[in-house]
Amino acid sequence: MRKTTVLIVGGGPVGLALAGELGWRGVDCLLVEQTDGNIVTPKMNEVNVRTMEFCRRWGIADKVHNCPFPQDHARDAVFITSFTGYELGRIPRPAVAGTKPEPWSPMRLQTCSQMWFDPILRDFALTWPGVELRYRTRLEKFQDMGSAVKCGIVDLQTGGHETIEADYLVACDGATSAIRNELGIGLTGQGILGYPVHLFFRAPDFLKRVGKPEGTFFLAIDRDGLWANIRVVDPLNAMWRLMVIDSDGKQTPESIDRDALIRRAVGRPFEVDWVGCSIWTRRSLVAEHYSKGRVFLAGDAVHQLSPTGAMGMNTGIGDVVDLGWKLAAIAQGWGGAKLLESYSAERQPTGVRAINHTSDFHISHGKFHDRFAAIEDDTPEGRALRAEVGPELVREVGRMFRTIGLQLGYRYEGSPIIVPDDTKPVPDDPENFVASARPGSRAPHVALTNGSSTLDLYGRGFVLVRFGQEAPEDLEIVEAAKARGVPIKVETIDNREAAAIYETRLVLVRPDGHVAWRGNDAPDDPLAVIDRIRGC
Ligand SMILES: Cc1cc2nc3c(=O)[nH]c(=O)nc-3n(C[C@H](O)[C@H](O)[C@H](O)COP(=O)(O)OP(=O)(O)OC[C@H]3O[C@@H](n4cnc5c(N)ncnc54)[C@H](O)[C@@H]3O)c2cc1C
Repeated sequence: MRKTTVLIVGGGPVGLALAGELGWRGVDCLLVEQTDGNIVTPKMNEVNVRTMEFCRRWGIADKVHNCPFPQDHARDAVFITSFTGYELGRIPRPAVAGTKPEPWSPMRLQTCSQMWFDPILRDFALTWPGVELRYRTRLEKFQDMGSAVKCGIVDLQTGGHETIEADYLVACDGATSAIRNELGIGLTGQGILGYPVHLFFRAPDFLKRVGKPEGTFFLAIDRDGLWANIRVVDPLNAMWRLMVIDSDGKQTPESIDRDALIRRAVGRPFEVDWVGCSIWTRRSLVAEHYSKGRVFLAGDAVHQLSPTGAMGMNTGIGDVVDLGWKLAAIAQGWGGAKLLESYSAERQPTGVRAINHTSDFHISHGKFHDRFAAIEDDTPEGRALRAEVGPELVREVGRMFRTIGLQLGYRYEGSPIIVPDDTKPVPDDPENFVASARPGSRAPHVALTNGSSTLDLYGRGFVLVRFGQEAPEDLEIVEAAKARGVPIKVETIDNREAAAIYETRLVLVRPDGHVAWRGNDAPDDPLAVIDRIRGC
């Protein structure tokens, strides 16, 4: 019987990222994906700042940065009555080229459609000898035996069945997760928020032909309200996506009048090449638990977010970065018996936080609906209304484009493997990010010499950072870590800005880049600290 440390079910971006993360950490895994992995009509387009930080750690940030989305393409979000109608407001989002990273991160948000991002993750995963990816292969059944998980898979091309014995099974099998259902793990939240329609089309020189300046994301508002968004997916191949924000849920791709919808968006009849159409369900749900026994779940399998705010995949990548080092710690023998339990304790509240904010962004789309009757009129009333609602739309609906606090500000306070201190938490504001090294937080970025970042110090094992040469040198905690087999290194940073942001003279950072413990002096009981942070 084939054995593996981890069997991953699902080769979407989250499963592929887990395969890459495990391979990078030297843990063998087998990933099964029922499709051929080819993506014709992609969902995800925005790889956020935190995910780009992980890509930097994995050494693939340049590949994402150099994806076919042109670096000089303005990414403005624009509120319009139609493409040939009035512009109501514009949120400048400059092209990647020419913009510098903000002070909070060495990375910037990258527009990179899933049709390019998934293959980058796949190639990264395949660079590791311990990683095997099998496409057109489906998990049919599994049984948690207590000491391992017995999994039945089928090769969809040959029909051949095989049994795999895995130490752990990770379900990255998407929103309809059969594994989650089989485990009887419930979902909580607002439930279904609507039935959007996706229409993909090709239209060369689209913006030139309708006379609009460059932008990436257009929100269409007519007398019936904010009804659609239209975004460019692949500018070089003129591929666009029109999303009707809601439908009655009874339509089918065949019954949709596509030409009427593009006419409404453009403001006049307009010919395009239709590429695809789908109707999907917008949900706001999170699983009650992210694991049961030897089975773990990640990505859409445990959180289904409204795409407003672009947090779905990005939250899923955060899941597998948290899970990856813990699985590696167990496989390498230094993780404690409770380490894997902390996965759900840390990531489930992060999922709740993400669904709450993204649902709120979606709800803001409907706030103005009863006010738009004159929005397209060339009358004093129409002009006054446009002048009034434009800034309101930018302020309210535009929040979904200002999410740096949401992206970087999640923290694992209250986790059983974090040693809290008695400082106050910084505000958790989705729009604004306040860097903090309070235990549980993402260890902050500070630019160091030669373009490197504090973040570049973290990733492989634990890192004990000493701020300033006068920080304690007698580091019993390092000896304690070594005694338990926990990989650790010591870094000394002589940088006033970093010392001020990190606040204490010693900070212990986990392999995922979150602060596990900090203090001005060595802890009284170093072994107790090490045992806590390794889940013992
Ligand atoms: C319109 C839209 C725009 C979005 N934009 C963004 C964005 O900009 N940024 C962002 O972060 N997120 C975005 N999202 C969300 C993002 O697309 C999802 O969160 C992400 O695709 C989830 O990835 P996943 O790997 O968890 O699941 P999926 O991508 O659904 O992958 C699950 C995979 O599991 C496979 N599978 C299922 N069962 C089995 C089985 N038994 N055996 C083998 N294989 C199996 C499926 O074939 C599938 O390939 C958007 C979503 C939508 C709808």
